[in-house]
Amino acid sequence: MIYSEKAPAKINLTLDALHKREDGYHELEMIMTTIDLADRIDLVETDDGRIHMDSTSGLVPLDERNLAYRAASLLRERFGIRQGVRIFIHKKIPVAAGLAGGSSDAAATLRGLNRMWKLGLTLEELVKLGAELGSDVPYCVQMGTALAKGRGEILRPLPPPPPCWVVLAKPPHGISTADIFRRLDIDRISARPETEKMIEALSRSDYPAVCRLLGNVLEEVTLEMFPEVRRLKERIRRYGADGVLMSGSGPTVFGLVDRESRARRIVNALRGFCRQVFAVRMLGIPEELPARGG
Ligand code: ATP
Repeated sequence: MIYSEKAPAKINLTLDALHKREDGYHELEMIMTTIDLADRIDLVETDDGRIHMDSTSGLVPLDERNLAYRAASLLRERFGIRQGVRIFIHKKIPVAAGLAGGSSDAAATLRGLNRMWKLGLTLEELVKLGAELGSDVPYCVQMGTALAKGRGEILRPLPPPPPCWVVLAKPPHGISTADIFRRLDIDRISARPETEKMIEALSRSDYPAVCRLLGNVLEEVTLEMFPEVRRLKERIRRYGADGVLMSGSGPTVFGLVDRESRARRIVNALRGFCRQVFAVRMLGIPEELPARGG
């Protein structure tokens, strides 16, 4: 029997780094929302007690460096599972893009194995386990729209963004999140997102305000290092997006657009400059999200 799980990507509507903590990580405050661009994880039980991995993408590691592998390994150790599993990742989310592809694969693996191995873990318990794997994994377990704080493990669900389209463009190179955080100088951040105002805008379903309040403190670092990301951002705005931002540590840039026809026009215009371009919808409300398992 195959257990399949959808692993959707996220975008940041805001990303703020408040200060550096004693453990060396940054204290974060970010609003994330799930979009309709997803990997699919297929899980098949094996009786050899090992974890096997395969993927349609040549860009992801197929051993313990893969976050989905680590998710399976964590559950096997924690709950004394003897069965093995074959994990197949149908990759649609660009890799090292700022869209939390690896984290979402790990979260989907936790959800799927919870069903396959009949562990009976609640969403809260899966969120806690996710925190052991990486900063974005707890959010990816929960999905929807949420404010994430701490290292990403403190989650508060928020109202979904107003219905709109998201145009995404990923420049050819990947970016190491750790590298961007290392280069971030907290004392030299010139503009911070207004997180509370964004929460109010979401509560009012105020589309122009959501577009206006998009903000990410990592942009300054990434845009300085990669001028083509800045140019891509300017281009998406010029082609008619209502709000534009880099997601996570980049390099993916997204634009919010209120009508599908306009989103398609922007995608066509971008195709000459960027190979990986998508137009997708938000997956904000619980009914639209993949089942969370439990
Ligand atoms: P985030 O937004 O959480 O920082 P990202 O979208 O920038 O994540 P990922 O696509 O998750 O980045 O990949 C970052 C690195 O993690 C890749 O270079 C890859 O080697 C490694 N990795 C491990 N597991 C996976 C996976 N399942 N899918 C993609 N990359 C993975």
